[in-house]
Amino acid sequence: MITRIWHGRTKAADADLYLQFLQEKGIQDYINTPGIVEVRIGRNVEADVAHFWTISTWKDMDSITAFAGDPVDKARYYPEDDKFLLEFEPTVLHYETFTPLEIGPDSIVPDSICTDCGTYFPSDKPIPEVCPVCADDRQFVGPEGQTWTSQDKLRYKHNVLIKPIREGLYSLKMNPSFAIGQRAFLYCSEQGNLLWDCIPLLNEPTETFVRGKGGLSGIVLSHPHYYSQMNLWAEAFDCPIYIHESDASWIMDPSPRIQLWKGDTLKLGDATLYNLGGHFPGSCVLQVQDVVNGKGEPARTGDIEPVKSGAGALLAGDTLYIAPSKDFVAVSYSYPNHIPLPGKTVKDIFEKLADIPFDTIYGAFEYQSLEGNAKEILKKSVQRYQEAYGW
Ligand SMILES: [Zn+2]
Ligand SMILES: [Zn+2]
Repeated sequence: MITRIWHGRTKAADADLYLQFLQEKGIQDYINTPGIVEVRIGRNVEADVAHFWTISTWKDMDSITAFAGDPVDKARYYPEDDKFLLEFEPTVLHYETFTPLEIGPDSIVPDSICTDCGTYFPSDKPIPEVCPVCADDRQFVGPEGQTWTSQDKLRYKHNVLIKPIREGLYSLKMNPSFAIGQRAFLYCSEQGNLLWDCIPLLNEPTETFVRGKGGLSGIVLSHPHYYSQMNLWAEAFDCPIYIHESDASWIMDPSPRIQLWKGDTLKLGDATLYNLGGHFPGSCVLQVQDVVNGKGEPARTGDIEPVKSGAGALLAGDTLYIAPSKDFVAVSYSYPNHIPLPGKTVKDIFEKLADIPFDTIYGAFEYQSLEGNAKEILKKSVQRYQEAYGW
């Protein structure tokens, strides 16, 4: 691995604004370049000036060249830098980076997070021999057999990449990827912020970011594969967790924060939760509005293209599965094990979807974004299913 360090200085009075610029925009090109392993921002505020460092670690020099161009040692600047930086250092520093062999967190908490699905099991009870979520025929145990890890180890080895998706909507994903590798979403609304699905890691920078957007009013889960560390998140933000009652038997870490809901829909502020079933009986999608302002600091207008259609977006988990071609939407009992659903269930799902207003779908994985054309793609997909099942 290679680490790249850039250094710049601003007036101390601009330290917070420049940090916000770096966090929300300046580091996006790093995150979006293949080969990035980690990126962190360092800051030292003195009497009159603030020093900033961006410290990025990469798989190899080719990845850095793809990011920085030629010559690779030349620093990259943005138009916004003109407003803040006191001077423009022409070059950056690169050095080879190695991972220590034996050093890890000194933790007394036993390992109780499944490394295949990310589900947390309460560490005060005996850990099962095999994780029931992975033993189920929708999932699988990896070739090395059942292994476990802990929150401390995850904090040591991973961070969370937060990406603005559009105004008031951010994706959160562990980096390097862990277990199933899903992204969660932070939906910011004046009627209360929601976390859609969950990831197994909650670290200090992520908690600070979510608090800056106004915290959470609730955690809403699409299905059991993404329950992960839901109670850790719910405790940090003092909020309830919404799970459809049909999936209650898959809760491995029961808590009074979990609210089981019944029926087909649940209104949560200006968002609506729909139970579609299929992958799991309680599988859901969350319909969110287009342009909203969070309870906390407003989104930086101009950074994210506002969406104007007014039709709303569906957060789909893997209740709906956008194909890599982005030309097909699948539904399935098990995606990794290729187990189909009965034709009647598929028909029911598509019928329920027909009444929900949206033009965009965001799925559980990074490439799964259908923006503006989701109904069209869905229509084509329903036709393929009709032909296959002979409805
Ligand atoms: Zn598991
Ligand atoms: Zn799943």
